[in-house]
Amino acid sequence: MLTLHGAGIGKGITIGTAFVLKGPAMDIPDYMVPDDEIESEVTRFKNAIRAAHSQLSKVRDHIPSNAPSESNMFIEAHLLMMDDPLIASEPLKTIRDEHVNAESALQRHAQSLVRVFEEMEDPYLRDKKTDINQVVNRIQQNLLNVHQENIDTLEEGLAGKIVVTTDLAPADTMLLKHNKMSAFVTDLGGPISHTAILARSLKIPAIVGLHGATRYIRHGEMLIVDGKRGTVILSPDQDVLNAYHDRYGRILHGQRELDKLRSSDAVTRDGQQIQLMANIELPEDIEATQRAHADGVGLYRTEYLFMNRQEPPTEAEQFSAYKRIVTALKRPVTIRTLDLGADKQVDGGRPNRDVTTNPALGLRAVRLCLNEPGLFKPQLRAILRASAFGEVEMMIPMISSLDELGQVLDLIDEVKQELRRQGHAYYEHIPVGGMIEVPAAAIAADLFASQLDFLSIGTNDLIQYTLAIDRVDDSVNYLYDPLHPSVLRLIKMTIDAGKTADVPVAMCGEMAGETRYTRLLLGLGLRNFSMEPNSLLETKKVIRETDLSALSDSIGEILACSDPNDLRMLVEKLS
Ligand code: PEP
Ligand code: MG
Repeated sequence: MLTLHGAGIGKGITIGTAFVLKGPAMDIPDYMVPDDEIESEVTRFKNAIRAAHSQLSKVRDHIPSNAPSESNMFIEAHLLMMDDPLIASEPLKTIRDEHVNAESALQRHAQSLVRVFEEMEDPYLRDKKTDINQVVNRIQQNLLNVHQENIDTLEEGLAGKIVVTTDLAPADTMLLKHNKMSAFVTDLGGPISHTAILARSLKIPAIVGLHGATRYIRHGEMLIVDGKRGTVILSPDQDVLNAYHDRYGRILHGQRELDKLRSSDAVTRDGQQIQLMANIELPEDIEATQRAHADGVGLYRTEYLFMNRQEPPTEAEQFSAYKRIVTALKRPVTIRTLDLGADKQVDGGRPNRDVTTNPALGLRAVRLCLNEPGLFKPQLRAILRASAFGEVEMMIPMISSLDELGQVLDLIDEVKQELRRQGHAYYEHIPVGGMIEVPAAAIAADLFASQLDFLSIGTNDLIQYTLAIDRVDDSVNYLYDPLHPSVLRLIKMTIDAGKTADVPVAMCGEMAGETRYTRLLLGLGLRNFSMEPNSLLETKKVIRETDLSALSDSIGEILACSDPNDLRMLVEKLS
């Protein structure tokens, strides 16, 4: 029995068997094949192609009827590539003529094919090298007999299993959830990466940044994933299993107690009403939002509509998704405009996907949208059109300059005029808010407040940018500190600026849903919290047990505290 530690996501516990997904790197062997083994090497190559073909055909035959229509075409294209002489027959000639092994022969031809595509002018054709690599990788996996299935091919084999892998992108997490994995464990990644946030909202217990996970955990091994403690126990003995079954029972009991608060008000002991909103990623999350009796949606991360597809969703598709949420919820819905880029790279919607050195500081979120009006305008139109069906607010992520904000506001006006001309209904006075995620925006929150209808503090990014730590880089996770004095000051400055300008200020970063900070935030003046729906009842419980008037002295002490350990203790005492 061995226990590994990482950063836990969610509070759940999962007991199950490991499904180890090896990382993409494969060592391609390169050796000479003796004369008398050439024909068996040729057969080995042909078998690998056949196996890869049959795996892909199986995937194609099991595409769910509601999958995007492109899925089929995508797989057909890969099947055709596998039949292409450059992949299927040229390596055979190389094996026979040069007496090299199958993997090496395939790799040589694949590389020259990739080079041909890389040199093409047309970005669409240039991009085809990704497909070639995927097809070749699949054949190589069969040649090397490595258990390395592509995420898109995993089916019922995954149901109920705990995925163990090097790293997971948000889009892969969605696919794996679709294939019913029960939990996941990754070598890399941080607790506030978008993958982690998604795991929380999908209620998938996970441990990220667990170095050595893929090294120590064996495929099929029994594991206990403890999201709250951030631990994975390998091959637990019976006593540990019993203890965990007991704990699981206690968690369920605690949840039942919280359930009793569903229809109670989020009001402090001294009568202050607090707004509790939900963060959602997909229209399906509406159910959890309703179950939690949230006052509305404080953050709808629309970028998830753009994942796992080749083309961005059309205006009509977006409109229908937004309208569905607005009409189902019948409460305010804050739709955030696209926040693509950084750790949310997608196929659909990003025509130029060149990798930049610092994607978190690059063309991300509103910057990317302003740079690509063809991507941005259909979304603005769709959000505006949805505003005719209920209370919709539009929120702009990552604003950092007033010029940029001015451009966005002008574009919104332009789109409104267009809709008016075309006879589309929308709500003229739709509130437009901005996310305070960049220190520059927090410091100048008064200036932004004067141009906007509301502000929402995105602590995940605000902390990342203030402390200069990449939120997905687990090697600097230890520096991630919501209680850093500079972070607390920026939060306070933003709340105060909102108060002065009479502009509501919400918080929708992960900090808002962590109950150890609830009283601190209430004391700093926050009255609107937005979090993943599963954290809502626990926060409500703390709010209902809080007396606001008793907080002010402790808040003064916390803000004046210069020692990080003392500060942490003061916050702990508060909670
Ligand atoms: C944030 O940065 O705090 C936030 C809510 O946005 P996201 O996590 O989607 O970047
Ligand atoms: Mg953010």
